[in-house]
Amino acid sequence: MKGVKSIFLKNFIIYSLVVMLSFTALGGAFIYQISRYAARERESALAAAVSRASAYTAEYMQIAPNMIGSSFSLQAYEKFYRNSVMGLADNLDGILFICDEEGEVLFFATGEGCYVHEERVYAPQAAQEAVEQKGRFYEMGNFSGLLTSPHYTLGAPAQSGGQTLGMVFASLPADSSLKLFANISSTFILMIFVVFLVVLAVTYAMVNNTLRPLRNIAAATRNFGRGDFSARVAVPKQRDELYALTVSFNHMADAIENMETQRRDLIANVSHDLRTPMTTIGGFIDGILDGAIPQEKQEYYLRIVSEEIRRLSRLANSMVEVSRLESGQRALNRTSFDISEMARRIVLGFERQLTEKEIDLNLDIPEKLELCADHDAIFQVVYNLIDNAVKFTQQQGKIIVYLSAKGGKVQCNIVNTGPGIAPEDIDHIFERFYKGDRSRSAKVTSSGLGLYIVKTLVNRHGGDIYAKSGNGQTEFCFMIPQKI
Ligand code: ADP
Repeated sequence: MKGVKSIFLKNFIIYSLVVMLSFTALGGAFIYQISRYAARERESALAAAVSRASAYTAEYMQIAPNMIGSSFSLQAYEKFYRNSVMGLADNLDGILFICDEEGEVLFFATGEGCYVHEERVYAPQAAQEAVEQKGRFYEMGNFSGLLTSPHYTLGAPAQSGGQTLGMVFASLPADSSLKLFANISSTFILMIFVVFLVVLAVTYAMVNNTLRPLRNIAAATRNFGRGDFSARVAVPKQRDELYALTVSFNHMADAIENMETQRRDLIANVSHDLRTPMTTIGGFIDGILDGAIPQEKQEYYLRIVSEEIRRLSRLANSMVEVSRLESGQRALNRTSFDISEMARRIVLGFERQLTEKEIDLNLDIPEKLELCADHDAIFQVVYNLIDNAVKFTQQQGKIIVYLSAKGGKVQCNIVNTGPGIAPEDIDHIFERFYKGDRSRSAKVTSSGLGLYIVKTLVNRHGGDIYAKSGNGQTEFCFMIPQKI
């Protein structure tokens, strides 16, 4: 579980970092663009207010001196002028400073009204100089103390006919843009937090989903370790790498379970096949030693003991052969030989049994049939098949051995009469340790390994083998390529 947590944590940290970095980059770019846009907007609003106010002021300053005397109309004009400036300040939502050409503030206007300072105040020296020399002043500050909080201030001269009659400054509080910045930032932080939670949930679900099959595999592996080979892992629906992994794991589990079953069967079969002759041997020897078997019968029982020992030896040899075949230690050593001659010799070796059982043997084989194969392996194949035929043929039965060459293959058919193989057994007779029911009841010594070895050897030569049985007749037929 420790590993699981660390994978989750690793993924979570990476995803969170990626999301946070993207958000910070995106937010930074967004705030930068917004503040640039706001600055441009603010500057153009200030410039528009200043330009109109300076036009009014220049006009006022030019006309007002000429109106002295007709005080009523001067008063009315002044009121009109101040109202206009106030209107501009209201529109701007800021403050307008109207100064004479010396820079002295004549009055300042907000949306609420026009005010005159109690003492004489002047626009800051730097502002005056900038207006005089460059025709424009722009700063962010408190306008040398004239304002109590930071403001953006833009100034320009009030001119008429090329003559500077005064100066106009317009100020906008800077805290509004700070507020905008703070608002955007807090929205971003909130969104980052929300996205952070979403990333947490999504990562958890994703990692969990990914790890589920791995956890199942780990659990199944633990069960395998404990000897329970039935454990399998649920295959995920999505055909991804985890799907492939679980499918492979289940295949491996099948193979291991199969091997385990085979191992158990092998031990059971071997111990059974060893126990029976051992009991017979032990019983007879004890009988001879303690005198239970009379002297004249001892030879008879010793012959049975000798036969049982030979059977054990055959079983041991077959098992060694199976193990060599399965481990791949049995390499094929192909040479050219006459399989007809081989078949004749093998049959000759069974003469005693054939005579005893009065079997009618018919050899339908060519004079000479060349085959390029592993001599010992093919000898074993033909020997085992003829041995079975002799074993399972009834008294006075019949055996026919055919040999021929067809389409580049050597074909060998061995047919024998007798009780035959039951249909339910025929599909299994080539399996390891499989013994047909009829052979169990017939009094024949049997290991169930012979046909397994035969089939393996034939297949290793690139050949094929089948068996059919019915109407009191059993036939085995194998074909192998004549040359490599
Ligand atoms: P075994 O060592 O017992 O002969 P095999 O693998 O050679 O083992 O044979 C497996 C089973 O196939 C036998 O137990 C028997 O039931 C059946 N069988 C093989 N050959 C014949 C045959 N010629 N006639 C009848 N049954 C046969």
